[in-house]
Amino acid sequence: MSSDKVRLNTEWLCDCGGCHVALVDLHEKILNVLESVEILKCPVLTDEKSYPEAEIGILTGSIRTEHDRHAAMEMRKHCKTIIAFGTCAVYGGLHGAGLAHSREEIINHVYRDNPTTITDFAPQDEIDGLEKLVIPVDEVIDVDLYMPGCPPHAHFIFEALSALVNGKEPRVKHESVCGGCDRTMKKTDVSEIKGSNEGIPDDDICFLSQGYICLGSVTLDRCLSPCPNHGIMCTGCAGPIMQILSEPTRDLRTEVSERMSRITAIPAATIVESMEKSAKTHYAYAMATKMIGNKPTFLIKKWIADVEAM
Ligand code: SF4
Ligand code: SF4
Ligand code: SF4
Repeated sequence: MSSDKVRLNTEWLCDCGGCHVALVDLHEKILNVLESVEILKCPVLTDEKSYPEAEIGILTGSIRTEHDRHAAMEMRKHCKTIIAFGTCAVYGGLHGAGLAHSREEIINHVYRDNPTTITDFAPQDEIDGLEKLVIPVDEVIDVDLYMPGCPPHAHFIFEALSALVNGKEPRVKHESVCGGCDRTMKKTDVSEIKGSNEGIPDDDICFLSQGYICLGSVTLDRCLSPCPNHGIMCTGCAGPIMQILSEPTRDLRTEVSERMSRITAIPAATIVESMEKSAKTHYAYAMATKMIGNKPTFLIKKWIADVEAM
């Protein structure tokens, strides 16, 4: 391999593996990347256990175990530029929904009280300790570049890697999923919220106009809007848009309810109530980040308790 190539390490922490699959799933563009990048460590491609010195380090997944913490710190020590890659690394990701429960509740539910896997065995002694919280990577190490997405679309991965290997700052776009959605928002007299599996939505009209909760307007576009363009409501997997993150009192449910109530006959309070009932779904991807968790409007434990008390 040529010594003038940019050296790359990747490491996965607590995640589903999807971000690493996305990294090596650039189709023919992987050839362009390999022309200028030398992959030294990558759990899905190499059997490298140590952390070689590298210019770029890509971390996927969030910190949930002692292993994750150690691996993130080793990557920081040995890589010049660290990229938090994917929604798990940037915001904690889907398993951030675990924050709504204690470690004991999760372990008991998965290993002991689950009707299909009843056992007295729980693997605490065999694996690295589960930490108390799920946290994004930048709560443990400094991060140089954030690339949310679950996983980020190949278009954005290629764009960022190309910029970095050429010594440039990657371009960061701030559009929401709505920007790439072909549906049209229009005023309707829809008066009830529908579940995602209820009825057959019109293909051309915005889901919000039809009474379906879609998070496209409050979600960063790191995917080129595939879900709403293929008949599925956006569940916010790339994490919130900058306005939600940066303004303390702006929140997913308040933003969506205001927008949806303006284009339907559904009162904003009804939409807020509905989103709170499904808080673990609507907030899952980013609830582990302090930018959401510390908001004065973020009351997930209370919302869950209210629903359970019904
Ligand atoms: S961001 Fe999504 S695809 Fe990537 S590791 Fe997390 S859950 Fe998987
Ligand atoms: S809210 Fe959803 S359906 Fe409506 S325009 Fe945005 S992405 Fe499309
Ligand atoms: S449209 Fe929404 S749910 Fe679908 S991939 Fe994009 S951010 Fe994720």
